[in-house]
Amino acid sequence: MEVKLCRITGFCSGVRAALELTDDMLKKHGPPVFILHDLVHNESVVNDLLMRGAKIVDEPEGLPPGATLIFSAHGVSEAVEARARALPLNIVDATCPLVRQVQKRGAALSEAGHAVLLFGKAGHREVEGILGRIPGEKHLLTNPEDARAFEPAPGRTYACISQTTMNSDVIAEMTAILRGKIPGLVESASVCHATLTRQNAVRELAAACDLVLVAGSAHSSNTLRLCEIVHNQGARAELVSGPEAVTPELLRGAKCVGVTSGASAPDTLVRGIYDAVQRIAESEKAF
Ligand code: SF4
Repeated sequence: MEVKLCRITGFCSGVRAALELTDDMLKKHGPPVFILHDLVHNESVVNDLLMRGAKIVDEPEGLPPGATLIFSAHGVSEAVEARARALPLNIVDATCPLVRQVQKRGAALSEAGHAVLLFGKAGHREVEGILGRIPGEKHLLTNPEDARAFEPAPGRTYACISQTTMNSDVIAEMTAILRGKIPGLVESASVCHATLTRQNAVRELAAACDLVLVAGSAHSSNTLRLCEIVHNQGARAELVSGPEAVTPELLRGAKCVGVTSGASAPDTLVRGIYDAVQRIAESEKAF
């Protein structure tokens, strides 16, 4: 059995920056430091923060006066930000600058008079934050079926943007569908650079492997998109949360196993999974 490590793994710049900011706050103010929702979508990373004195909260209200409250890398809506800033809290904004760009683009397109079509996953924090920054008409389209079913109003102008971690192939498909029925559609939907390079690297890896292990969490959007891309390339994708999940049964039948990760999985986790696959590959050689 051959084992290949994806050429891009580990934290993206937005996740790394959010973690560094939280570390700084823990050092500067001491625990507890409060985080509005999970800082990033990875259980091992969040558990580590909890052990070091971070506390996850769902609302800005009810915290002790003067407490530090961190907005997660996914960003928050304008209304949530206003509620938090009206309280006697030390607000620290860890929104990824690339998410912030999409929020601003959505607001600017809306202010320019367009109805905004956001491609993204319903209920995802990033999506709620972007929608909550668009002042005018907006519609969430979650997949190509939604794009096909969408009926534009005659005479209305439309612009499309997307969640930063969507599957870039799906964005292209949805944009093409809408282009066919909305003359003059402003096409501004794209994934962030980190997502694009990672998705391209996974396409290459999946083309060379028959099984790809994707390190990450089931509630991480970018991680699930990587599984989807592996599957679309014709390989088997398995989402694994850690090295303990790597068993001979999981790898059975695979001639070439690839290892990759979502943008919120630490390098140590990826390395642990890679080493676990190597150990099984070597023990098979010994027989
Ligand atoms: S995936 Fe992209 S937008 Fe999201 S945190 Fe990472 S760099 Fe930022």
